[in-house]
Amino acid sequence: MNDLSSMVYRLIGEIILKRFFILFFIFILISCSPAPSVWGIAVTPTSHPKITLIPPSETAIPTEIFLTPTSLPTVKPTSTLTNTPLPTATSTIIPTPSKADIERVIVISYDGLRPDAIDLAPMPNLIELRENGAQAPLTARTIDYPATLPSHASMLSGWCMEDTGIIYNKFYQFMGYSKGVDIFDLAHQANMQTIMIVSKDKMRQLAEPETTDVFEIAYGEPAIQRAVLAQLEEDFDLMFIHFAGPDNRGHKWGWMSYEYFQVLREGDAVLGEIIKTLKEKNMFDSTMFIITSDHGGHDRNHIGLIAEDYRITWIAYGPGVKPIEITRQLYTFDTAATVAYALGLPLQPDWAGIPVYEIFW
Ligand SMILES: [Zn+2]
Repeated sequence: MNDLSSMVYRLIGEIILKRFFILFFIFILISCSPAPSVWGIAVTPTSHPKITLIPPSETAIPTEIFLTPTSLPTVKPTSTLTNTPLPTATSTIIPTPSKADIERVIVISYDGLRPDAIDLAPMPNLIELRENGAQAPLTARTIDYPATLPSHASMLSGWCMEDTGIIYNKFYQFMGYSKGVDIFDLAHQANMQTIMIVSKDKMRQLAEPETTDVFEIAYGEPAIQRAVLAQLEEDFDLMFIHFAGPDNRGHKWGWMSYEYFQVLREGDAVLGEIIKTLKEKNMFDSTMFIITSDHGGHDRNHIGLIAEDYRITWIAYGPGVKPIEITRQLYTFDTAATVAYALGLPLQPDWAGIPVYEIFW
């Protein structure tokens, strides 16, 4: 009887032990198999980027995405963009009708601003000026050498690079200042108040010091804003403002990169503050703006032979400026001629630049 009992116990023990091993083996198999077949949710293998998944019912946008450094080092989390509310224009703008109301001109150059970046950044204050003013989104171009200093020299002088003598993208004192009669010369001769606020020191070469009543170098958008708003305390006739940020970010991170767009938004916010301040001082309705750039850019470069490098932003807004799109070819030296025409300064017969007459009523 005892033998029978011990046999039964041993048999039961063996069965339990076998089942335990079978179950253990199955568990081991399950642990190594692809997780979705077991748990019903997608889990990426450990060698892939770690992705935190969120059920569709909560939100369609993952809040955390970790990418391995070797996979896509320059990609930013999309949540940064999607969670940031898009900036809006400071206020509604209604243009006044007559060119005769122009009392001052502000030329703004966003260094390296491609016209197709304005909506993508976006730049709401500039968009508002553009939509209520004249623009040449496809047909404005810089000189044959699409570099900062030579291009700005033509923009502000009305001359070709061969005539300004600014043939290097670097300040060489022995080369002298930009040659020929430029808009700062003309404004100075007419006893107008002239202001130049730039964010690259080589821009000093664009105009002789005696022709700029105020010349300041301000690095970074907050410094530019402080410098410009301080100058709006007093009236003036001609102001040139230069933002180096887009060009700096383009060279470092690439044109049309997240960082490039970011600094465009910062520069646009400064434009918004300028508009707001002018309105508070009842100067806005008598101010003409030309917002332009010295070149475009692609990848991390702007000196190529492609349209993206040569094409520039060209937007005009102000009293008597029509809301039109210009489809003929414009050149950066037409900016100087247009400024001279708007301020009633004498046009220079030898200028390469011609006023963009058709923007005025
Ligand atoms: Zn530039």
